[in-house]
Amino acid sequence: MLKQRTIREPVHAIGIGVHSGAKVRMTLRPGEINSGINFIRSDLGGAQNRVPALADYVADTTLSTSIADGAVHVATVEHLMSALWGLGIDNLLIELSAEEVPIMDGSAAPFIKMINSAGIVEQSAPKQFLRITREIKVTQGDAFALLRPYQGFKAGYTFVTDHHVYDQYPKQASIDFATTSYVDDVSAARSFGLIDELPQAQAINKCLGSSLDNAVGIDDDGVINEDGLRYQDEFVKHKLLDVIGDLFLLGRPILGEFIGHMSGHALNNKLARAVLRCDDAWEAVGYSLAKPGSCKPILHPEAFSAG
Ligand SMILES: [Zn+2]
Repeated sequence: MLKQRTIREPVHAIGIGVHSGAKVRMTLRPGEINSGINFIRSDLGGAQNRVPALADYVADTTLSTSIADGAVHVATVEHLMSALWGLGIDNLLIELSAEEVPIMDGSAAPFIKMINSAGIVEQSAPKQFLRITREIKVTQGDAFALLRPYQGFKAGYTFVTDHHVYDQYPKQASIDFATTSYVDDVSAARSFGLIDELPQAQAINKCLGSSLDNAVGIDDDGVINEDGLRYQDEFVKHKLLDVIGDLFLLGRPILGEFIGHMSGHALNNKLARAVLRCDDAWEAVGYSLAKPGSCKPILHPEAFSAG
C-alpha cells in the first residue's frame, strides 16, 4: 500500500504574481495526515485565512485558476498544484504573503526544486486515489474535456489554433505516468502567449507581472525568448501541466484517462465539478485496491455531456 506524503521541513520562495504583478513570499510547510493541500493567506487578519485546494472552491478561471473561501482569495494555483501531483505530495500547507502564488519561471520546475530541497517524507496513513469508474465529458462550443476509466493516469491534449507560429509546433501530446517522467518531460513547460494579446489581458488587470522571465512570448515571426523553447512541444505540454494542476483540485490523484480538446481552466474545473457531482463516476481507493473492469452502472450518461 502506498503511503501519504508531505515535505520534511518548511521551504520558502519569493517571487511575483503573474497577473497581479505583486511581490509575494511563499512558505511550504508539512501538512497533517488526511489534511490535503491548503492555502493560508498570512497577510490577512482574522481567524479565517485558509482556503482548501479543492475544485468546489474555484472562484475564477480567467487565464488562470483561482480559489476562494469567502473573502480569502488565492490566485493562480495551477502550476504549484501540478508540481504537487507530479511529486506525489498529499498533504501540504502553503502560506502566502499576498493573493497570488509566485509565477517563478512560468512552469512547475521551480516548485519541484523547492519541494525536493525540503525533502519528501512518507506518512503513516495510506494514500488515497480517486478512481474514475465511468466516462464523464463536459463541452463548451467545440472544446471538450473528459475523464474515463484507466488503471494508472494518462492524459492527451489537442491544442487548436490558426496562428501561423503555433502551426510550426506539435499541437497534440499524450503522457502516461507509467512511462513519462513528469519532472523531466512536463514540469519545465512554461506559460506562453502572443505579444499582441498582452494589452488586451492587461486591460482587465491580468498579466501585469508577465515578462519573458516567466513566459514564452510569441510575435508574428516566432518565439522571441533568446533561448527559444525548452521542449519542441512546450506549448501543448504546458496545457497538460495546467490540466494536471486543475484536476488535482479533485483532492486526490486520479486513476483514469483525461482527454482534452482546446480545453482550458474553465472546462477543466467544470469537469472536476461534474465528477464530484456524480457519485457513480468515481470512488476513493488505495492503490492496491484498484481493480480493472469493475465500473459501476452508468446512471446519468447524458447529465454532463453537453453545454
Ligand atoms: Zn499554465
